Amino acid sequence: MITTIFRAAIAGATLALGAVSGAGLATAQEVNLYTHREPGLIKPILDKFTAETGVKVNLVFAKSGLAERIQSEGERSPADLLLSVDVSTLTQAIGLGITQPIMTPVLEKAVPAELRAKDGNWVAVSARARVIYASKDRVKDSALTYEDLAGPRFKGKFCIRSGQHEYNTSLIAAALAHDGAEKTEAWLKGLRANLAKKPSGGDRDVAKDIAAGACDIGIGNMYYVGLMQLDANQKAWVESIKVIMPTFKSGGTHVNISGLVLAKHAKHKAEAVKLAEWLVSQKAQELYAAVNFEYPVVKGVAVEPSIKAFGAPKPDNVPLDEVAKNRKAASELVEKVGFDLGPQS
Ligand code: FE
Repeated sequence: MITTIFRAAIAGATLALGAVSGAGLATAQEVNLYTHREPGLIKPILDKFTAETGVKVNLVFAKSGLAERIQSEGERSPADLLLSVDVSTLTQAIGLGITQPIMTPVLEKAVPAELRAKDGNWVAVSARARVIYASKDRVKDSALTYEDLAGPRFKGKFCIRSGQHEYNTSLIAAALAHDGAEKTEAWLKGLRANLAKKPSGGDRDVAKDIAAGACDIGIGNMYYVGLMQLDANQKAWVESIKVIMPTFKSGGTHVNISGLVLAKHAKHKAEAVKLAEWLVSQKAQELYAAVNFEYPVVKGVAVEPSIKAFGAPKPDNVPLDEVAKNRKAASELVEKVGFDLGPQS
């Protein structure tokens, strides 16, 4: 189900888009952003951009499938930029041939090399660690590896969203890079055997299930811990958990990104580049940290205090491009071990 949201300073944004794609009339000072990120999370940041630059941002939101959508729209695609919640979506878009290099001297200077594509085709605008949520009362550990979660002591106590969600396939893709197919399969089987329930819901549901006593430990992205604090209904969930910053036995913490690619047929390339550069400005990065509880990609920008309290992650050494490369194999492994079928009887 694709939800389309056009935020417009003038009436009839859909008409404006039609004009852009149909007749090639450049409507001044706007940019069309296709996004897999919830609009609510990025709106405050984009509003600031519009207020500062006068460039209107039209959002097209969908949970998945936007790269394919841009591909099927072809040359007439209104998309200027695609914002993902995961590196693999960006490399998938590049593989589909729907992008062009986005790198500029400003982006290159602002964003460290490991957080942008070597070939200049994608750039990260924020980063997020995949961490352990554990019951404050029932889990005494303060340090664990991802591998530890598959050990027999957590039998019947582990919760997680679908193994096929991109957050998990990326984590598993990193495991593949570290340990190879055989060991990673054994690890996944161990995780499946430990499941308290069928994988379902989102990362926040892991905290919800821990609060309800349905499981003791699980995996989620770190920023939800901040976001749940802001929601009166979710505060009790987050209060029941502590965050453990896990590492791979032979590596660090899995840190994924939210990032951008520039559409091949972008009609507002100058505005798109302006937005990309603005998103890695000091000001925007401070907002990312404060509003979304993510890690800034720009050095020297402070991490939000409640997130900082989890400790600084030692990011895993598997390059994000390699994570993306292993994503398909990871997805096949999830299928092979029947992960999403839930705990074995
Ligand atoms: Fe998320």
